[in-house]
Amino acid sequence: MKHFEDTICAPATPVGGGAISIIRVSGPDALRLADSIVQFHTGAALSSEGYTLKYGTIPGVDEVLVSIFRAPHSYTGEDSVEISCHASSYIVQKILLLLVAAGGRMAEAGEFTRRAFVNGKMDLSQAEAVADLIASGSELSHKVALSQLKGSYSSELKELRERLVELASLLELELDFSEEEVEFADRAHLQGLLDKATAHVEKLVDSFRTGNAIRNGVPVAIVGAVNAGKSTLLNALVGEDRAIVSDVPGTTRDTIEETVTLGGILFRFIDTAGLRESSDRIEKIGIDRSYASIAKAQTVVAVLDGCAPLPDVQKSFAAIAARLAGGDKKLIVLRNKVDSYDAIAPEEFPKMDRSYNCFELKYPAFGTYELDPEALAGKLSEYLESKDVPVPEGLEVLDVSARTGEGLDMLKERLVASAGLADWNGASLVTNLRHYEALERALDSLRQVSIGLDRKSPTDLIAQDLRDAIAELGSIFGAVTTEDLLKNIFSRFCIGK
Ligand code: GDP
Repeated sequence: MKHFEDTICAPATPVGGGAISIIRVSGPDALRLADSIVQFHTGAALSSEGYTLKYGTIPGVDEVLVSIFRAPHSYTGEDSVEISCHASSYIVQKILLLLVAAGGRMAEAGEFTRRAFVNGKMDLSQAEAVADLIASGSELSHKVALSQLKGSYSSELKELRERLVELASLLELELDFSEEEVEFADRAHLQGLLDKATAHVEKLVDSFRTGNAIRNGVPVAIVGAVNAGKSTLLNALVGEDRAIVSDVPGTTRDTIEETVTLGGILFRFIDTAGLRESSDRIEKIGIDRSYASIAKAQTVVAVLDGCAPLPDVQKSFAAIAARLAGGDKKLIVLRNKVDSYDAIAPEEFPKMDRSYNCFELKYPAFGTYELDPEALAGKLSEYLESKDVPVPEGLEVLDVSARTGEGLDMLKERLVASAGLADWNGASLVTNLRHYEALERALDSLRQVSIGLDRKSPTDLIAQDLRDAIAELGSIFGAVTTEDLLKNIFSRFCIGK
């Protein structure tokens, strides 16, 4: 275990708000510092065992409870104390000043977790999972962060790296004897081992899409013509569930978006600020903006105005469908405003434009064509075909009212199903961009190795590519680290973490 000379301290709870604040102190002098600022009623901290809680007074400041942790049985692996005081920013400030005056040093961002890593309490990917766990806002992201914290993900990576190290040693053996032109390693055997490892890395790289969706939310675009009811729908979905969009360092959000948790899964409605503005602007800009968000979405919710004339509805849907073509985005089609069908008095029907598709639903007798959701899906398909726009697979229309909430439960079910996360079985998922990029580079190198074996390239060249892949995998859990890498990771943590 590395021995740090100094003892660090920092508030571990947000200052301001809440009833209690906790100040964390870690390092060789942690217990002595506690003794020097707190008058304990039952013996000194230095003479206490680990995992004990002591009551004391900081004269003129507060009454506190101090938890004692003895090295190596603490978060950082060092002697540590946690001082619980009343949550006043003045009190917290005062205690920190006393600790610093007694010889402590204010911790830098992430320094506690960094010490935990350096002291071997956790590896790098576990340290990152701590940040994810703290930031997790949905059941699923919590589950993934927790499983990464427990270390199954890093053991999988370690094992994978071990296999590559073995492979490398077979190659290096050959390299050592290369002057004698002996081929020790059976190339077919090597290729077999390599293929297995490559497939494994590929699987991890592919899992990032799911992992990222779990960690940062499944990106959903709500699109449709101006006045179709997109904003109303979004408000209905977000409703009281309105998630607090946290400014979590290290997440890839670049805009503030509406998020909502459905069925334990976080959904992120993208570019919704733009959508909202669009109702004030000319139609074209509104539509273009909302279509731009399709590119970033995994699921697209097409909102059709159930009170607009059918040809308009067909046209706006065709514009959406054309932008979906060729991608693997999930589509959910809504006919909105079905509540308005009830609002029309029967005697008004003859005066209404019959091409409005709402009448036939509730009052088939007045319709010249029947437009239940299935029939509408048929009409939409016909139109797409006539315009040479590919018909989305399994096209189906859901009737909803964003205003009354009718049909929204079904929509939520479809959203949850579209995320494709229900069958996640706890297998390793890559949720971290840094890991994903390292795995991609590892995959690249492994492919070079394969090409090298294929072409019977010189063994030392092949070995170099293999070493690159090994280094990339190792960088994920911290087999090899550089000061820059550690700084980069831990500076994203908050002070006190
Ligand atoms: P956006 O331009 O697509 O965002 O549309 P808005 O959400 O601003 O809605 C346009 C208009 O349609 C507003 O007057 C809404 O009150 C109305 N509207 C939206 N959803 C419904 C609905 O389900 N039923 C009815 N009757 N009106 C709705």
